[in-house]
Amino acid sequence: MSPVAAVDIGGTRTRIALFAEGEHEPREWKEFPTPRGGDVLEEISAALRELPGIGAVGVGCPGPLDPRSGVVLNPPNLSAAWWGLEVAGILEERLGVPAALENDANLGALGESAHGGGCGRDPVLYVTVSTGIGTGLVVGGEIFGGARGYAVELGHAPITDGPRCRCGRFGCPEVVASGTAIARRAREAGRRVGAGGAREVLEAAAGGDGLARRVVEASARDLGRALANAVYAYDPEVVLLGGGVSQSDLFLELAREAVEAEITLPAFRGVEIRRAHLGERSGIYGARALAERRAASPG
Ligand SMILES: [Zn+2]
Repeated sequence: MSPVAAVDIGGTRTRIALFAEGEHEPREWKEFPTPRGGDVLEEISAALRELPGIGAVGVGCPGPLDPRSGVVLNPPNLSAAWWGLEVAGILEERLGVPAALENDANLGALGESAHGGGCGRDPVLYVTVSTGIGTGLVVGGEIFGGARGYAVELGHAPITDGPRCRCGRFGCPEVVASGTAIARRAREAGRRVGAGGAREVLEAAAGGDGLARRVVEASARDLGRALANAVYAYDPEVVLLGGGVSQSDLFLELAREAVEAEITLPAFRGVEIRRAHLGERSGIYGARALAERRAASPG
């Protein structure tokens, strides 16, 4: 199989990697600020053209997007120049190779399943906890997308009566258990939180600060409830937590305890909950796996 290109378009940075079959580490790596205006695919196309002999391109970016048509919809984390763009189609036209687009959380799940902590496990549930909460499920080695490709949006399936979420509902995991939520809860409890946001609160909690600890416990408990619901729904063989918040050992441990406390049906006890193996690279390895699938069946 020809090498494939993986593109991870983030809210601030875009990363591109070249992967050869059978090699774990990328052969080439490029990184630059995500374009915000004009022809936003120009720099990405140019970077991809410099990669030798690629057979396909896999692209991940923040949702919402339509994976079936390869079109970005209106993601709040990307500038309006991206909205409505036929990313997969445009790249196919410019590069002359198959291209596919998926949302970053689904690719995190696929990357961990194909190349990370979910190897040989099925199903694999991936949950990224950072400024927001993204989730993806891989069943039988493929992203479970549902009828339209949007399935498993657990970050916006409410678990409490909590505050209103940007999606319009109340008490979503994203509005009570994300990094943004941890920082907000700490401020509401009277703590000063600087530019470090949730990281400051997590570090203070780990260092013995009682108020910070209570905030982190509350958010981990809420996440635990969402994860327990997902365990009931999908019976995953492993749950992998990615994103900046999950890098905290304390948060991970509290979330594990919360899941065990929430799971009262004995059949579901003891589900494995671990930190994602690929860290910040889960998504780009997912884009790699997506490209490898497109190269194998260009259809
Ligand atoms: Zn929501």
